[in-house]
Amino acid sequence: MFDYDIVIVGFGPTGSTLANLLALSNISTCIIEREDSLYNLPRAVHFDDEVMRVFQTIGIANTLRKYLIINRGTKFIDKNGQILLDWPRPRSNTINGWNASYRFHQPDLERILRRRVRNKKFIDVFENAELQNITDQGSNVKTTFKNLKNRNLKTVISKYVVGCDGARSLTRELMNVSMESLGFKQTWIVIDMILNLQERSLPDRTIQYCNLERPMTYCRNVGRRRRWEFAVLPGENPQDFLLPQAIWSYLERWISPTEANLERQAVYTFKSEIAETWRKGRLLLAGDSAHLMPPFMGQGMCAGIRDVSNLAWKLSFCVWNGHSEELLESYQSERYSNVIEYIKTSNYMGDFVNTLESFQVSNTVFKKKDGTAEMKSIEPKLGFGLGDLQDPLRGKKFPNINLVDGSSFDQYFAVRPIILTNISIEKSEADFGNSVIFTKEKSDLDSILKKYAVNALLIRPDRYIMASLPINRSDDEKLFSDKEYDLLKFINAKKILLA
Ligand SMILES: Cc1cc2nc3c(=O)[nH]c(=O)nc-3n(C[C@H](O)[C@H](O)[C@H](O)COP(=O)(O)OP(=O)(O)OC[C@H]3O[C@@H](n4cnc5c(N)ncnc54)[C@H](O)[C@@H]3O)c2cc1C
Repeated sequence: MFDYDIVIVGFGPTGSTLANLLALSNISTCIIEREDSLYNLPRAVHFDDEVMRVFQTIGIANTLRKYLIINRGTKFIDKNGQILLDWPRPRSNTINGWNASYRFHQPDLERILRRRVRNKKFIDVFENAELQNITDQGSNVKTTFKNLKNRNLKTVISKYVVGCDGARSLTRELMNVSMESLGFKQTWIVIDMILNLQERSLPDRTIQYCNLERPMTYCRNVGRRRRWEFAVLPGENPQDFLLPQAIWSYLERWISPTEANLERQAVYTFKSEIAETWRKGRLLLAGDSAHLMPPFMGQGMCAGIRDVSNLAWKLSFCVWNGHSEELLESYQSERYSNVIEYIKTSNYMGDFVNTLESFQVSNTVFKKKDGTAEMKSIEPKLGFGLGDLQDPLRGKKFPNINLVDGSSFDQYFAVRPIILTNISIEKSEADFGNSVIFTKEKSDLDSILKKYAVNALLIRPDRYIMASLPINRSDDEKLFSDKEYDLLKFINAKKILLA
């Protein structure tokens, strides 16, 4: 007997997004969170289009929009104000149907994510609850946590446990998983200010001040919020920089105490690390518990949201259809190489800001005619996992399209894969139910197949293409591999999964 399908440890952005995604398939979930209030030190201020699409999937995009501004990009400049590298963000919508990049205030997002799951009858949230122990018993997992108010212990049995408990994850420790260092480690001070007047003439982009003596970052945040960050040099005591007097004197070239209020300040050691293993049996890691990166790209939280977007539909599948090693095994193998690209690029950016050594922070940087360098955002593909690596469309994002009736096509496949095809399939339609969408009468969808030059696409709920059938394939009597068929058939056998 199970008390819950899934236990999530940690109600930060990763855990709360996972809970929201699982709620789409009516998964019963227990969330364990040590604190009873939102984390209130400066953290994430940026996320991207792919992450916004996940927020659209769980139904918070419209609420969230009111708390966002579109990010215009980042400039890396030297101490004379000369631009060394420009990373502009286009203002048009991307393939994900949203702007490339947004600025936000992390507590706003966390509040919206938490509110969305609070009143679901199949989700229990335990706050002031600290994880004590986890035992994978083979066919289930026993989790014990402590009520920090009355010291009572509670034990629950679930099918899986996902550790979304951040950088110092106890779940990871209990799984006996170590973190591998990927190089970068440096202490920085982070200062959040609220301007008295919106009009104060400060840059409207993020500026990375590349400086051998002391690298710094300025962020144009939402509303009147502005952030400054600077590196603490070896031998310096970070605490000396946290005193308001020291902060104001340090920021005097930009701002004075009559122009803004100091909201909060913190010392962080920015690190790049990755957990060697993200799954052991029925225990999994996601978000900061699985990987850490310095914030130069603003991608740490984004990576956690991508993790749970990859994981949620696989877990739902296992809950409703039985444990699948293959599906769960694909989680780390698909996510690992993707997140490594963000970590490496963040490291290179950190090195550039620190040492001015090379603006070639990624292979998307190119030299312009005027000699300055410009960068496009990186788009790492999924690593090896489900599907055939020889398939050129496998691992590409399927576009977020609006249908002629104005609805978003994304809403048709939030929890299970679908086949889009313009040819009738010879396997029994009953096996697949409404997992198959015939595009013949739907010109908007048909044109997508034409654009890709395929007769069929198999698309996963996390919006990645899993398999494609090129128009001229000789063995076209067989749409996809038997394994891919089995997956769809299995899912449709359990109609519960239908959205
Ligand atoms: C200065 C700074 C700037 C950043 N900027 C960006 C940015 O612009 N964009 C971006 O994408 N990312 C950014 N990040 C990274 C981002 O903030 C993190 O990646 C993100 O918060 C991780 O989310 P999480 O849910 O995985 O972990 P967390 O947010 O750390 O949440 C973990 C939760 O688990 C709970 N918990 C921990 N242990 C236990 C336990 N034993 N029992 C019960 N509960 C427990 C904690 O209380 C917490 O609520 C930045 C980080 C910093 C420090």
